[in-house]
Amino acid sequence: MAITKKLLKQKGFKLNTYPKGKFWEYETKDKKIIENILQEDSFGDENVVCLQLKEDYSDKKLAADSNVWEIETEKEFLDILERMYDKEDMLRCDFCRTRLPVRLLKRTHYGSGFGYVRIACQDCMERLGSEEIKGK
Ligand SMILES: [Zn+2]
Repeated sequence: MAITKKLLKQKGFKLNTYPKGKFWEYETKDKKIIENILQEDSFGDENVVCLQLKEDYSDKKLAADSNVWEIETEKEFLDILERMYDKEDMLRCDFCRTRLPVRLLKRTHYGSGFGYVRIACQDCMERLGSEEIKGK
């Protein structure tokens, strides 16, 4: 496997243009994806994780909140991509069990358990109402 435009797009990267050049960038606030990317017990309360590389796939960086790391090798970078969801990965809504692409599902807190996260489709979000989904 190698880094390709197709792979980056599939993972949800966008090519953004800045005065200093073009960069492929990905940003997520999804807790599950953040866990998958960071994979360390010492992490866990990051809110935003970003991946960035130049248009020619050099200068790869990983940022979690305000910390930034260089990703040294292509293999290391590909391992991270491997652990992320594809944009078109299918998951089930936890309420109606419909299988939908990840991008159409929302993560939601339901019930009172600590960090208890459910996945809901738009219909269920509307049907249950944000009150119920946020917990009782
Ligand atoms: Zn649903």
